[in-house]
Amino acid sequence: MGNFAYTGGRMQTDGVDLAQIADAVGTPAYVYSSVALEDTYRRFAAALAPLDPLICYAVKANSNLAVIGTFARLGAGADVVSVGEMARALAAGVPADRIVFAGVGKRRDEMAAALKAGILQFNVESEPELLALNEVALGLGLRATASLRVNPDIDAGTHPKITTGSRDNKFGVDIASAMRLFETAKNLPGIDLSGVAVHIGSQLTDISPLSDTFAAIARLVRELRGRNHAIRRIDLGGGIGIAYQGETVIDPKDYARVVMETVGDLGAKLIVEPGRSLVGNAGVLLSRVVYVKQGEARRFVILDAAMNDLLRPALYEAFHEIAPLVEPPAQAKLSPVDIVGPVCESADRFAAERMMPPLEAGDLVAIKSAGAYAAVMASSYNSRPIAAEVLVRDGDFAVIKPRQEIAQLFADEILPPWLTGGAHG
Ligand SMILES: *Cc1c(COP(=O)(O)O)cnc(C)c1O
Repeated sequence: MGNFAYTGGRMQTDGVDLAQIADAVGTPAYVYSSVALEDTYRRFAAALAPLDPLICYAVKANSNLAVIGTFARLGAGADVVSVGEMARALAAGVPADRIVFAGVGKRRDEMAAALKAGILQFNVESEPELLALNEVALGLGLRATASLRVNPDIDAGTHPKITTGSRDNKFGVDIASAMRLFETAKNLPGIDLSGVAVHIGSQLTDISPLSDTFAAIARLVRELRGRNHAIRRIDLGGGIGIAYQGETVIDPKDYARVVMETVGDLGAKLIVEPGRSLVGNAGVLLSRVVYVKQGEARRFVILDAAMNDLLRPALYEAFHEIAPLVEPPAQAKLSPVDIVGPVCESADRFAAERMMPPLEAGDLVAIKSAGAYAAVMASSYNSRPIAAEVLVRDGDFAVIKPRQEIAQLFADEILPPWLTGGAHG
């Protein structure tokens, strides 16, 4: 694909020199490649095509309208976890009947909004939620189509903060309770509980937890059908990992084969919810070196990007490759540096003792694999404006979210009457 690779010694994507983007929009800035988004989606969709699934892009990975819209144009639905995400998906052109609403804490007003919008299904995660959804639907004179999210108690083998399918996690209901809840739902006229859903975690690089999970789901579906529950949809969740540091990742063809072998012959409509795997390596965070500081023990490269722009290293000890936009000469000497941001937290560190070619103040770097769980987790901590987002396509680029202006940081804050006007005293 040649995305975010050096051409003539300069990092480019989709035929655009990234330094040119940095000059035009400033730094830090997230840059996404249309070719990478589209190719990754098409490759995944092609592998699964024989199973004719609905691919619901997990909007939380990157919820910029232009990113959702890129997938919507290729036929994707959306997996949302809040009414805010639902509104984004609809605004980006995803038809309501391709939207799945997941999450452990859906409020009644969110349920009502989603019912009125006419989404495809709710993924229900508990008995109280099932009862609440029934009431909300009846109140609107509607019937909610739902799937039950089960928790198969399988270790996804991923970082503890992004594992979701073990019994110590808050997500889903255990398999035994699932049986009971399907019985309960039979007496709830506001609910058509006719599917099962699962999602065991994120950044999975090994397929075996997924195949164990899908096999458990297949057993559950057979058992439910044996008890006269109509199971029409199976939602397999997301979780496919990407290479941050040269990891071997799950090939879409292997994923498709495992789906085929486990749940492929059940005659249910299949739904998949990939997030990270579609966007993670389609984006970088551009940043400029502000200072290089030689400490007593370590050398610090201080960037103008920080943990408020990319939280993953601070939150998950995540690795992100960092590369200069100008290709270093082959004989460049590498030396260990800490790559940090300006935020007043020691956790504001992108890399520790990373072997890097020489870097100087003013140099531009790309923090790679920043397409997923990056911009969506951004905050304005330390009153740092939210960074710009740019989408590159076919030799051209568009700003898809301008950099926040300083005045916008507090434009919606209000001084109460006792702090405005009047005398001091
Ligand atoms: C986060 C999430 C996804 C997407 O996970 P990725 O690891 O980004 O693919 C899919 N389904 C549900 C229910 C989620 O919470």
